[in-house]
Amino acid sequence: MSKKTKAQELQEQLTWTFPHIGKDSPGQIEKASKYCEGYKAFLNAGKTERECVKAAVKMLKKAGYRPYDRKASYEAGDKVYYVNRDKALIATTFGRKPLSEGVRINGAHIDSPRLDLKPNPLYEKDGLALLKTHYYGGIRKYQWSAVPLAMHGVVYLEDGTRVEISLGEKEGDPVFCVTDLLPHLAGEQNGRKLSEGIKGEELNVVIGSLPYEDSKDVKEAVKLKVLALLNQYYGMTEKDFIRAEIEMVPAYRAVDIGLDRGMVGAYGQDDRVCAYTALQAEMGVTDPVYTTMTILTDKEEIGSVGNTGLNSDYVLHYIQTLAERKGADYKTVLASSLCLSSDVNAAYDPTFASVYESRNSCYAGKGCVLTKYTGARGKSSSNDASAEVMAKVIRIMDEAGVCWQTGELGAVDAGGGGTIAQFVAGLNVDVVDLGVPILSMHAPFELASKLDVYHTYLAFRAFYTAG
Ligand code: MN
Ligand code: MN
Repeated sequence: MSKKTKAQELQEQLTWTFPHIGKDSPGQIEKASKYCEGYKAFLNAGKTERECVKAAVKMLKKAGYRPYDRKASYEAGDKVYYVNRDKALIATTFGRKPLSEGVRINGAHIDSPRLDLKPNPLYEKDGLALLKTHYYGGIRKYQWSAVPLAMHGVVYLEDGTRVEISLGEKEGDPVFCVTDLLPHLAGEQNGRKLSEGIKGEELNVVIGSLPYEDSKDVKEAVKLKVLALLNQYYGMTEKDFIRAEIEMVPAYRAVDIGLDRGMVGAYGQDDRVCAYTALQAEMGVTDPVYTTMTILTDKEEIGSVGNTGLNSDYVLHYIQTLAERKGADYKTVLASSLCLSSDVNAAYDPTFASVYESRNSCYAGKGCVLTKYTGARGKSSSNDASAEVMAKVIRIMDEAGVCWQTGELGAVDAGGGGTIAQFVAGLNVDVVDLGVPILSMHAPFELASKLDVYHTYLAFRAFYTAG
């Protein structure tokens, strides 16, 4: 090999590009692939925020966590969890340093875009029984027709009985579907703007097509048949829909993508990919320097609203009770804490290159993505992490050998979005976004590189173990 020129050497020292992990460290491919088997199982087990909390509690209990008792005193190494209304959760491992030196917070969200049933959803029209829906979160409506949907949720009956529904996931289960026009008759619909290809009030889900037996003297016999079956399965009547939260989600399971199996394809990877990796990092930490707080939160997709969303005070109150018990001032705890707002970013898509700025995009296979700011129209509604916070988090990742990259959410003025970071920052906590690059984000079927999933886990692990 010929000796490098001074210019070549200098170029090596002074310039920086993010390598593909598979090219630089091929040994990571097998590790990542193994790691993602558990991830796929988690995606299959949790298709709603409630199911994710249930799955997480099961994992936490198995790992020795106990329900948080605000009156108890805890020592370094103790592990507790707190559940907020079955839809959000905080897990903590107590650290060696006093709380006044801050806690390490990792917040991911477990709600994903979907079709929610309206409070009065069931109707019959021209021989079909259908369900009216109101979409939840940012979806491209045309993507949600002609795909198999499963029905998940919870219903309260007249007598107060709580019934859980999960239909369309097991082999042999029926599934449901929003219909679309055949191309032969879609001439007029094809002329619509893509955003109106399927309109909100056209997202009607087929739930039945057969009339109730022996129903000649009854109107709406197909609707009656559906109600009879719902009553048989769940004990519910039409009125009980009003006491329910039922979510229609894609019915398929997580799978490998590509001949090389390099990616995971599944519904709801935004942001269960960060929820799973954060939970794994939380459970793995045994004797942390700082007390940890792993938050799996709800309602991010509709602006972190509600009392299970991060814009409520439930996280603040949790920190307040921790601080009270330890005799620390919660304001000092907040001001000295560091948080990862763990959420996905838009992976560069070569097919739609024009909405990305290639130098500042994240790429599938280059590791977890550290996102300084999100927002739209001049960083509006973002957090915009400081140079100091960036330096801290980069040092933690570099020292642990984590493969990471940076990325904006698309080109300037191409669009934008927000995360929970702005609400964490509102508590006077240092925070930055970190997560996994995703292709087809918010579609019923999203793609993530296994290498990136694994290195996001490594980043979270480093975040909790670092001093
Ligand atoms: Mn997200
Ligand atoms: Mn999202």
